[in-house]
Amino acid sequence: MDFGVPNRTLDFRQELKSTLSAAETRRLLQAVHQRDDGMDGDVRELYRHLGRAGILAPSWPAEYGGRDGDFTETVVLLEELVRHGIPQSLYYISVQIVGSLILQSGTPEQKRTLLPRLASGDLTACILFTEPEHGSDLASITTRATREPGGKGWVVNGRKTYNLKSAYADVALCAVRTDESESRYQGISLFLVPMSTAGVSVRPLPSLADEQFHDIALVDVRVGSEALFGAAGQGWSLITRMFAAERSGLDYYVRARHWLGLAARSLTAPDGEDGDVRGGQAAEFARHRARLDASRLLTCRALQHLQEDRPDISDASLAKWHCSETAQAISWWSLDALGSQVIEPGFETGGSALEAAYREAPGLTISGGASEVLLDIVTGARLLEDVETGG
Ligand SMILES: Cc1cc2nc3c(=O)[nH]c(=O)nc-3n(C[C@H](O)[C@H](O)[C@H](O)COP(=O)(O)OP(=O)(O)OC[C@H]3O[C@@H](n4cnc5c(N)ncnc54)[C@H](O)[C@@H]3O)c2cc1C
Repeated sequence: MDFGVPNRTLDFRQELKSTLSAAETRRLLQAVHQRDDGMDGDVRELYRHLGRAGILAPSWPAEYGGRDGDFTETVVLLEELVRHGIPQSLYYISVQIVGSLILQSGTPEQKRTLLPRLASGDLTACILFTEPEHGSDLASITTRATREPGGKGWVVNGRKTYNLKSAYADVALCAVRTDESESRYQGISLFLVPMSTAGVSVRPLPSLADEQFHDIALVDVRVGSEALFGAAGQGWSLITRMFAAERSGLDYYVRARHWLGLAARSLTAPDGEDGDVRGGQAAEFARHRARLDASRLLTCRALQHLQEDRPDISDASLAKWHCSETAQAISWWSLDALGSQVIEPGFETGGSALEAAYREAPGLTISGGASEVLLDIVTGARLLEDVETGG
């Protein structure tokens, strides 16, 4: 595997640094943080600003609003967004998960109409998969879509929960059952449901983390036949494909890297030798640093597979498992090592970010596939292979 960074990616990082630290970007970011309820703010204006700068979909073809780049540009984009304090989850869901699925599997019409708007920050998306009784076992979903008489469109009924960013999303990628069949994996379909459609109601749910969850009721939601994504009843293969993108681990790795950087700055004695780490934390810091390097390699491998149009769900599951477990461990270690000083007024280097990370940490190993389920997928795919080859 060669993950050497091309020169154009290095140039892109410089461009990003200048765009993300520009006065207008900082002003829009400040407006996001000025919410007084402590929850995550509305980032859409900021994304439109970044979309106009042409940086949001670097690895997409130029005809769809991208820059004809490769996955290394996506990696540096996420690294820089997080480093500059720009909330990335609405962006990640919209462009890197839903957008990437449309790019790989959408019709020419869906690509032409949706991708440029996603790349410009003009259109945002959320994912409505999980239901109150069905999370890991997604094939058991009970939300239904039935054909309208005359076959012109569909009527969707059901309830979705624990989704992020739905209050700010224009369109939802929604998994539903369209017919009963012998196999649980048949008869599931994906729809792109405009969130403004009559019958869609969004209720915020409290969360330990800053980002709130939502509970979505879908009551007699009427959508046209163009809302169907992929063939009716054949949604499972698209979901698996989407998981390969959602589980690249990239969004976990970049947060972990940022948190370790913040902790390292605080743990380095100001008057000590270069790299002197306080409180006997040096060995643990090095262990986390090694885990982070492994996270980056696993993420890059998963993204490279996607770029080469050979998504591998077991490699992606391994990447997401490793990156999320590492991010969680770094977050908890940071607070253990730094103690309550991070919430004291005047704490200088990213204290509030580390405190927020601590509250976010429990969800990291559940969102996008719980760790136990991911390990199960890896074992299913690798055990026999390793037994046969002897390792
Ligand atoms: C931060 C966050 C963001 C999220 N964002 C979204 C979103 O945008 N859209 C959306 O649709 N959903 C979202 N979810 C929901 C998420 O996809 C589900 O929480 C997840 O799939 C687990 O489902 P569950 O909560 O029903 O738990 P369950 O499936 O009930 O699992 C509970 C526990 O049982 C274990 N378990 C389950 N099955 C097995 C098995 N086969 N083998 C071994 N152990 C098993 C799990 O590992 C877990 O520890 C989000 C969740 C979080 C935490």
